Amino acid sequence: MKITVTRTQRPKPKPEDENKLGFARTFSDHMFVVEHEAERGWFDPRIVPYQKIALDPASPVFHYAQEIFEGAKAYALDNGEIGLFRIRDNALRMNRSADRMCMPAIDVDLQVEAINRLVDLDRDWVPTSEGTSLYLRPTMIADGTSLGAHTATRFIYFIICSPTGTYYQQGMKPIRIRIETRHVRAVKGGVGRAKTGGNYAASFKASYAARQEGFNEVLWLDGREQKYVQEVGAMNMMFVIDGKIVTSELGDTILPGITRDSVLALAKEKGLEVVEDRVAVDYLFDAYDKGLLTEAFGTGTAAVISPVGELAWNERTITINDFAIGPVSMMFYEELSCIQRQRCPDTHGWTTIVPHYQA
Ligand SMILES: *Cc1c(COP(=O)(O)O)cnc(C)c1O
Repeated sequence: MKITVTRTQRPKPKPEDENKLGFARTFSDHMFVVEHEAERGWFDPRIVPYQKIALDPASPVFHYAQEIFEGAKAYALDNGEIGLFRIRDNALRMNRSADRMCMPAIDVDLQVEAINRLVDLDRDWVPTSEGTSLYLRPTMIADGTSLGAHTATRFIYFIICSPTGTYYQQGMKPIRIRIETRHVRAVKGGVGRAKTGGNYAASFKASYAARQEGFNEVLWLDGREQKYVQEVGAMNMMFVIDGKIVTSELGDTILPGITRDSVLALAKEKGLEVVEDRVAVDYLFDAYDKGLLTEAFGTGTAAVISPVGELAWNERTITINDFAIGPVSMMFYEELSCIQRQRCPDTHGWTTIVPHYQA
């Protein structure tokens, strides 16, 4: 399928200060769009100026939240090229989310080409300062004109791009996390493994309440026993216990993070023992009391690594590593950023370079 390109006639001003970008607040000049109908499959892939999307008010995305998305980043490299990190894995995960949400798969090569062409066209939008990147948000929504509560007959897949700084406004500093004991994020058999907007809508009440009390995020527990830790906001969670990397095993209820997978691969290479299992909160606090829980951190594309300085559970609050960034968190952050920026050898074939289609 040939992707057509319509360039903007009115390029937008770029953000002036790369150090004040925040997370995904401004968007680049162009977007990618492709549509799907049952009889036609995917059709009319195109790059167009960034613009509003007009939808029928009866579109299923508004009523039944049939929506999935991805999150990836394009990085400015020292040699002036633009790099991508494990972008095929994002495309593959998009299709796994699509399957769970009864939406059509979209050819992985088309997704990757769309991202490459879009980033190529908007390459001037990729910020270059340390810690910045162009955040990419592929999204698929259900479109249509009927309120029938069943899967849609039309779908739209689009990609938008945003020059982005560090995820947490305060920069890379340890965060405060509250273990959520009232609400749950996902249950076995549910959609916790899919990157779907509804998971976020269902989480905002708890994270809002936690923020009111000075926390940055909540750590979710399993939906059945409220005993085992799951993940945090848009991050998977890892703990350093007795020198081992301990993280929740994947299943129905946890989003399989690409950063998580990358950190575990690096850990094994470094000879660190990796434990993927059910992680009980009791076990964590017990390890803390014994002085064995030395670090905790979240992993995700937006924040890369986010050290956790404080963990509150009911009446108990513990301070981890004196609220400082620990050596293991730092090592993973530096190692991953180094590979993403293509300053370190990529022995895994994780990185690619955006081609120059325009030349
Ligand atoms: C996207 C996401 C993550 C992190 O996944 P990455 O591929 O590492 O960015 C973790 N949890 C949730 C709920 C997410 O949506």
